[in-house]
Amino acid sequence: MRDMALSDLLSSRGFVGEGAELALGLLCRLGLTRPGKSRIAAAKIEAVDEAFGAAFLRHCKKPACLPSAWDAREAILVAAEHCEVCGGSDNRRAVEAMLVAMRQAGWTKLLVVGGSPGTRGDLERLCRDRLELRFVTEDTTPNRKTVGPLLGWSEITAIWTSTEISHKATAVLRGRKVLKVPRRGVAALAEAVRVRCRSVC
Ligand SMILES: [Zn+2]
Repeated sequence: MRDMALSDLLSSRGFVGEGAELALGLLCRLGLTRPGKSRIAAAKIEAVDEAFGAAFLRHCKKPACLPSAWDAREAILVAAEHCEVCGGSDNRRAVEAMLVAMRQAGWTKLLVVGGSPGTRGDLERLCRDRLELRFVTEDTTPNRKTVGPLLGWSEITAIWTSTEISHKATAVLRGRKVLKVPRRGVAALAEAVRVRCRSVC
């Protein structure tokens, strides 16, 4: 059976320093390792990743990525590449998959509601010129006259429900093309859009 160094496993998941100690403590409590062991069986890695995802919220220090009060998981500060909210490579992968799915569905117009300036910027950069992207932000006047035409224009509308959005705006956003995304982050939104596209193909 193949195995790997526990320290490599932890650092590859973003856990270093105090974060690594917390992660190791969790694995010991769950019986996935025990104190003094330096290696872990490859067969356990899936369970380890599941346990990390359930127990910890890994976020970077960008203001947009700070944990929400409703997230009961223990917040752990990690480098941006491991951040659940903005984590570079995950976002890119998820957006590429979304673009493929939208192309297959024949859709090019995506309206995004909510999100932070940072996450909107990330999404825009990753989609650059390959998608028509519009936003309803905190600066959009939240009424039927402004939001209605945007909804009409879009082929799919995704609402980041965990960010602050005016109820007057969301009240207008109803119907079959509207999708609610409870999780924050570009990857979560892209994944939800991708799944919706697939359901119509
Ligand atoms: Zn981040």
